[in-house]
Amino acid sequence: MPPHVTPALELRAVSKAYRIGGRRTDVLVDFDFSMDAGEFVVVTGPSGAGKSTLLHLAGGLDAPDRGTVAVAGRDVWSVGAGARAAFRRRNLGFVFQFFNLVPMLSAVENVSLPLVLDGVPARSADARGVELLERVGLGDHLRHRPAELSGGQMQRVAVARALAARPSIVLADEPTGNLDSHSSTEVLDLLRSLADEEHTAVVLVTHDRDAVRYGTRELHLVDGRTRPSTAPGGEV
Ligand code: ADP
Repeated sequence: MPPHVTPALELRAVSKAYRIGGRRTDVLVDFDFSMDAGEFVVVTGPSGAGKSTLLHLAGGLDAPDRGTVAVAGRDVWSVGAGARAAFRRRNLGFVFQFFNLVPMLSAVENVSLPLVLDGVPARSADARGVELLERVGLGDHLRHRPAELSGGQMQRVAVARALAARPSIVLADEPTGNLDSHSSTEVLDLLRSLADEEHTAVVLVTHDRDAVRYGTRELHLVDGRTRPSTAPGGEV
């Protein structure tokens, strides 16, 4: 990688352990990872391998015990909580397994919410919301509330919301875990094509081996370490 390119996400010598009742679990030890804008990394591995921990660290939701986590060249933990929250709103998008849409808001209000919270004028936030919903094929569902949408449609709204602020990186945690296979394909196709168009990096954590083909790279974790993946179609 040329030295002038700032990675979208960089973890350097990151260690993270959890302690419960005096017992300590080392999840990541001296973990290094770097990805550029435009990359789509699919994180696979058995349950307990550290996939969610990696995502939480990358998203600034959880602090490393040691090492640094930088998003778009900025150390997420070098600033206070307020600045970190603002930085996360502008630079990180999230897609969750259970959609996490606001039930009382319409589809377009859900998508534009990160922009409104960041002080973007209502008119332009709304225009960005409409544009993204049209791009995910929901231009005729702008005023529907989440309860009036199918699971696949809700996840398309969530994908649109994750990209609303033109973040450096989108973190997706099992986004197809609650969808049928048709909706899963649709959501992953949209996430990949929108991320390509917007030049946004994506980290996708999944148990779904079919999702690996959407990635530009697979990161297979076992016990907090990167391992060569099993054969395509094998158990993750
Ligand atoms: P994966 O997402 O690959 O299933 P996780 O990152 O969720 O793995 O978990 C890795 C290990 O860390 C597991 O042993 C899990 O029990 C432990 N762990 C994760 N989060 C916590 C937490 N908040 N408190 C205590 N232990 C945790």
